[in-house]
Amino acid sequence: MTEELKQQLETKFRFRLNKNQWKDIKRLFYEIRRRDNIGYEDIIKELKKNASIQKAEGKNKFFVIKRDLINMRFPLTSKNEIIDTKRVFLTEIKEPYPENYKCSPPFTPETVYVEENAKGSYLEKRFRDKFPDTNIEIIDYYSNYIKSHKFSPGELKKPLIFIVKENWDFIKPCPCTKGHLGCNYWIFNLGMGCPFDCSYCFLQAYSNFPGIILPSNLNDFFNKFDNFYKKINRKIRIGTGEFCDSLALDDITGYSPRLIDFFNDKNVYFEFKTKSGNINNILSSKPSPNIIISWSLNPQIMVEKEEMCSVSLERRLEAAKKVRDKGFPVAFHFDPIIHTSGWENLYKNVVDMLYQEIKPPFMWISLGTLRGPRQLKNVAERRFKDSNIFYGELLIGKDKKLRYPEFIRKQIYKNMVKWIRTHDAKTPVYLCMEDEDTWSVMDKPFTSSMEIEKYLISP
Ligand code: SF4
Repeated sequence: MTEELKQQLETKFRFRLNKNQWKDIKRLFYEIRRRDNIGYEDIIKELKKNASIQKAEGKNKFFVIKRDLINMRFPLTSKNEIIDTKRVFLTEIKEPYPENYKCSPPFTPETVYVEENAKGSYLEKRFRDKFPDTNIEIIDYYSNYIKSHKFSPGELKKPLIFIVKENWDFIKPCPCTKGHLGCNYWIFNLGMGCPFDCSYCFLQAYSNFPGIILPSNLNDFFNKFDNFYKKINRKIRIGTGEFCDSLALDDITGYSPRLIDFFNDKNVYFEFKTKSGNINNILSSKPSPNIIISWSLNPQIMVEKEEMCSVSLERRLEAAKKVRDKGFPVAFHFDPIIHTSGWENLYKNVVDMLYQEIKPPFMWISLGTLRGPRQLKNVAERRFKDSNIFYGELLIGKDKKLRYPEFIRKQIYKNMVKWIRTHDAKTPVYLCMEDEDTWSVMDKPFTSSMEIEKYLISP
């Protein structure tokens, strides 16, 4: 974006933009152009139609132009409500990262770093066997290595593996989001990082170090779980897949057979969440009614554009069918649902495809619309220069995350539930990270986390 545009605006509308005002205006022009695929001239032409810009005096001129641009940037929301400008996230436009690693399947590590404490572990052996030519380096602690090596977010997908001995974060409650209704989910924290590269992945906002961390001390996790469960002593839902894909590397790590063996006689629902078709270990394991394998679903066009290196929608459904035929309960997550033009057809088709392929009921279906911390947008737009999803109608929500406004989210959830219920009256459908008001459009409008948990555990 050039100084030329600034000069044009200043001349055409006879005013001066200070540095901060120019930052906002520049960002709005940039996003309108990206979302509507139009030129700056077209935007200026639109502005010129607004007589109140010419009438406005002094500082007011900037506010009238900004308001007009906000209305163009958020055409649906501006028709529905007066947008509070504080909810519009306008940051400096930054260049894409010069060195931006991309995933490239099949996952092949460039280097495997093994913490001293994890040396000789079964996980190290598996990596040595699968990748005999890969460089393996012993390090003291992962955290020290990261402190002494500087990485940029553009290196996030460098194919590095860190085999560690986890000492602290074994099991934790899902952090959900402030002031919203959670579902009391627990995270079995087996790894961090993912070989897939989804443009919306929240991990990009939290980590600026590359690689995938894989704990080798599964037995410590199991001991911790036994102690934890003595205290909690009620049926819970717990799973991997929050900070990593549960099965993406399962052929290498061999985690799933050990997890199934451990959890199949526990009073929990243990969930593997994936976007992969990596199910051989699952198919070789004995099914159990409390071991749930779940898939995230999105229209194929979104899979191709926004979920790089994961498998196609068709392959996810085929994998789910095989796992279901083997005898495992399955579940599905429509998350994140991305609001674009024609979203209704796209998502209705996915719902129809799901029910054509696999007979209900399922363990659960979750729905969640695109959301994320503001810094996620900053990183994602520098890593995925062709993705436009962050130029949708995302405003700063009550939890300070970027989200679609409530009327769009409600419209999406209402329709999704309607489409699901035409095929399936039984599967519990719940919302992920939503508030009580938004829950009111659901067929079961719960108002507390306990009610949601109960519904999912014993519907
Ligand atoms: S609703 Fe979603 S984010 Fe919140 S606790 Fe449940 S799984 Fe976690």
